[in-house]
Amino acid sequence: MSNILVVATGNKGKLKEIRHRLEGLRLEVRALTDFPPVEEPEEDQPDFEGNARLKARYYAERLGHWVVADDSGLEVDALGGEPGVRSARYAGEPSNDARNNEKLLNELADVPDEKRTARFRCVLCVTGQELPGGEQVFDGVVEGRILREPRGEGGFGYDPLFLHPGLGRTTAEIPLEEKNRISHRGKALDKLREHLERVLA
Ligand code: IMP
Repeated sequence: MSNILVVATGNKGKLKEIRHRLEGLRLEVRALTDFPPVEEPEEDQPDFEGNARLKARYYAERLGHWVVADDSGLEVDALGGEPGVRSARYAGEPSNDARNNEKLLNELADVPDEKRTARFRCVLCVTGQELPGGEQVFDGVVEGRILREPRGEGGFGYDPLFLHPGLGRTTAEIPLEEKNRISHRGKALDKLREHLERVLA
């Protein structure tokens, strides 16, 4: 098998970030759009790891190449970890960032500032036949607090409500390059890169 790794995401921003982080490895990194279309799998697992494994295995089987897939979302402590795997569709289908943020603010209306702790979590799974090192998962988290109103114009999803206490800024107020360095996805990607560097050496 040749060293092709397919990034299983339809999100152009994520694709760019993942490609960037895997540059220089002994791999040819490809996108799903480089292959004939494959129907998306249903992400029906109870946690991020389950969904990341499900997506990676699904595409690896159909494409016959190594695949990396990710799943991510927001865990709010006062809501017992919700919205979690339901982050994208928290306020119902179709997915809508503004409605999700509004619902989150309503759910937390009576929660005092010190109890509004939350984290973004990302789990990456890499898999495929004869992949050196076998199937692996890597996770990354970034801790923060949910504000009472949105701040900033950048980012996507829950970024305008997510305050990085150490920086005093929301993820929507941080330049993209800086976000990618400190983000949950960035941290998981660092671990993936380190692993692949070792097993592909
Ligand atoms: P997915 O991993 O693309 O399915 O993302 C799930 C959902 O989690 C997104 O639609 C967002 O609502 C939320 N999410 C994941 N990562 C981020 C982030 O970096 N910023 C803001 N929201 C995020």
